Amino acid sequence: MEAGQSFLPGLIEACRAAIALNADRLCLLDEEIGDGDHGTNMRRGCDAVFAERDMLADLPLPQALERIGMTLVMSVGGASGPLYGTLLMELGRGLATDEFGVGHSFSPALSRAVDAVARRGRSVAGEKTLLDVLYPVQAEVSMHSTLDGIASEALAAAERTVAMKAGRGRAAFLGNRSIGHMDPGACSCALLTDAICRYLGELEGA
Ligand code: ADP
Ligand code: MG
Repeated sequence: MEAGQSFLPGLIEACRAAIALNADRLCLLDEEIGDGDHGTNMRRGCDAVFAERDMLADLPLPQALERIGMTLVMSVGGASGPLYGTLLMELGRGLATDEFGVGHSFSPALSRAVDAVARRGRSVAGEKTLLDVLYPVQAEVSMHSTLDGIASEALAAAERTVAMKAGRGRAAFLGNRSIGHMDPGACSCALLTDAICRYLGELEGA
């Protein structure tokens, strides 16, 4: 695989911008069913990754993703840091062991990475967490959906967490009172998916 990913700094900037723009909203969502820090946590993580963007661009993609995962674990904190970190580290590891090339192995690598997040969080689908966006996104990717299709399913999946009762994380302590609010982790995950798809779409069109 080629070393050096010239698209990576732009992708990282797109993710950072999406989180910075929505950090207050993510904190408000987390105030409703958690402790109000999700936007701050994610912003710190994105800033830390952004600071490493040039170094990351010099690495082969699997190693860059693994490194991003480690940086997220160290910088995001909270429950979401290790979960986002696991996602990126496992995705990188999955792509590193690929013998066919990134284009062929992205979907199975993403699938394994999402399963690793579920194991890390001892969580399953339907418990009102970021997994309720990750699983639908993985399903769209495995169906070779368009970038627009993946992004709109991610945003719709985050909306669907409003009706769910939380089974994991701080929100689970609220029981039925968690119903009627969007999960902050699902929201950040949808915003990041949307930002990534838009950026990749612009690259394709360029
Ligand atoms: P904390 O809850 O420690 O303050 P954050 O506010 O940054 O951490 O992240 C909260 C988000 O993390 C939740 O909205 C949810 O999506 C996700 N989350 C928390 N616990 C779990 C878990 N056990 N499994 C999956 N996702 C979880
Ligand atoms: Mg929180």
